[in-house]
Amino acid sequence: MRKKFLGANWKMNLAYQKSKDLYTELSSLSPPSSELVIFPSTLFLSEFASLNGLPLGAQDVHFETYGAFTGSVSPLQLKSISCEYVLIGHSERRQYFNENNVLVNLKLKCAIQSGLKVIFCCGEPYENRKSSTHLSFVLAQIKAAFNEINETDLKNCIIAYEPIWAIGTGLNASQVEIEEMHGFIRESFSNSYGTDAADGLRIIYGGSCNQDNASAIFSYKDVDGGLVGAASLDFESFQKIITAL
Ligand code: PEP
Repeated sequence: MRKKFLGANWKMNLAYQKSKDLYTELSSLSPPSSELVIFPSTLFLSEFASLNGLPLGAQDVHFETYGAFTGSVSPLQLKSISCEYVLIGHSERRQYFNENNVLVNLKLKCAIQSGLKVIFCCGEPYENRKSSTHLSFVLAQIKAAFNEINETDLKNCIIAYEPIWAIGTGLNASQVEIEEMHGFIRESFSNSYGTDAADGLRIIYGGSCNQDNASAIFSYKDVDGGLVGAASLDFESFQKIITAL
């Protein structure tokens, strides 16, 4: 039985006090039976970790453990402040920071070796969905990202399927589209790592998930939870999504 996972990706939103208030408020809810992880700005991780609230994740990380990389944050630094998770391969990193599959693989390997758990994000642009090349597009992302990742490493990974055309657009994918892709992703991992590893792998959905559609999305086959952006910035709306899990 796979434990459901829900991540709140706050992106570059909310200044210090609002972030802290929201983190504190969410942390005061009765502990969920599923895994609930908050991804605030990296700037606030250290202080929030000292509040002993909900588990925390970073939105990005460098591909080396230490070194002369001005402005970057290393996985070991994240680990040293009790940050548990990191998002890798988010489409906004790929789109606005030119992160390609090779870099994503380097980051993934370094993060795992440093003891972080990884939410690996994949998903196709609208053109690939339109031309029915969405499955091969996502498969190529997965193959590249998981190069040299073994079955033990895979236990520390969660896959987030996030169609790019659904992120922040209000257009969430349909049940047929989500179930097709999640089933395909599980089958791909089964081909590479075996059935047991694939059966234990959590695959979550992200893309305009909100209080109105969350309950339906979380009930779809092969959906083990969600990664939520905009709708996680408001306490009431995110609380409803937590309840839907
Ligand atoms: C995301 O960026 O991971 C995301 C799912 O965003 P939104 O929920 O706003 O579409």
